[in-house]
Amino acid sequence: MATTLEDLPIRDDLRGQSPYGAPQKHVRVQLNVNENTHPVPQDVAEDIVASIRQALTTVNRYPDREFTELRESLAGYLGHGLGADSIWAANGSNEVIQQLLQAFGGPGRSVLGFPPTYSMHSIIASSTGSRWIAAERDAEFRISPETAVAAVREHQPDLVFLCGPNNPTGTPLDLATIEAVYDATEGIVMVDEAYAEFMPDGQPTALTLLPGRPRLVVSRTMSKAFAFAGARVGYLAADPAVIDALRLVRLPYHLSALTQAAAVAALRHAPEMLRMVDDIRGQRDRMVIELRAMGYQPHETWSNFVLFGGVADPRAAFESLLERDVIVRDLGIPNHLRVSAGTAEETTAFLDAMREVA
Ligand code: PMP
Repeated sequence: MATTLEDLPIRDDLRGQSPYGAPQKHVRVQLNVNENTHPVPQDVAEDIVASIRQALTTVNRYPDREFTELRESLAGYLGHGLGADSIWAANGSNEVIQQLLQAFGGPGRSVLGFPPTYSMHSIIASSTGSRWIAAERDAEFRISPETAVAAVREHQPDLVFLCGPNNPTGTPLDLATIEAVYDATEGIVMVDEAYAEFMPDGQPTALTLLPGRPRLVVSRTMSKAFAFAGARVGYLAADPAVIDALRLVRLPYHLSALTQAAAVAALRHAPEMLRMVDDIRGQRDRMVIELRAMGYQPHETWSNFVLFGGVADPRAAFESLLERDVIVRDLGIPNHLRVSAGTAEETTAFLDAMREVA
């Protein structure tokens, strides 16, 4: 007789659960997981291949456990006077966040977040044996310093997770809120800035708040602006003491030599990669304008996606877009769908399909 998962001595809290993840459907227009839908430019890809080829000559050896060159490249990219000793990286920012929870608070720790927010925050919290506390946003999905501080004072969590711009809403996060939350807690405050590069030019990010705030952690990823989702490179910036703590929980050699080589090469081309961001912001703004003209209610977005309300039956709209070879995301927010900004052609295909659905 076949063994099922339920026959095994797995953790009680995992019984009956399903693995998390958006459906991986290979349709023509994939706008469901906030990827950068532009491929890496050809000359950058060639440099990455050369860099990987070089790394392959020593792939019989374990990689640099400290991924020093990558940390130096990331520090150079972020600026803000950050040194390599303030940077940590892992296989996607999901893994960075997992390591952060493994290093701080201990089993049974409490983690406070503000849903709707990035689903993996609560999932990583549960899978690391943490208690997830959901605090509220207002009707426009914003968090004010006052309500955030009230939630932190009430629950006194070990960690607070903020997300700016927030996924899945696109909502900006004020620096004043981050500062107020930091001052209201003695715990770690993590600001997930996966979409920072899509903010309007000149907007300050949480990186500007790092000096003098040793419990503040800013996480980033190469999955979005750098079109590197498949390579799995996420990172964070924090006080060097936080990095020392992460070193105590990381598995040795967690970042492969090939990943390190690829990321270092991609970062050498940062200005060229970031030109894609301008194009994506343009397509995102076009989506907002045209969705509004169709009678939907797109929310303000500082990211590479748009959450829009006014969808009578999100499941039916999702299915009917899928029939037209366009996949978006139905996150269970009543009357809402989320769509990632695509290339000009993909955006046109999505908008045309929406007109037929409407
Ligand atoms: N944070 C946020 C807010 C995200 O939306 C995502 C990806 N959708 C991630 C982190 C994870 O990114 P990565 O590919 O670096 O694991």
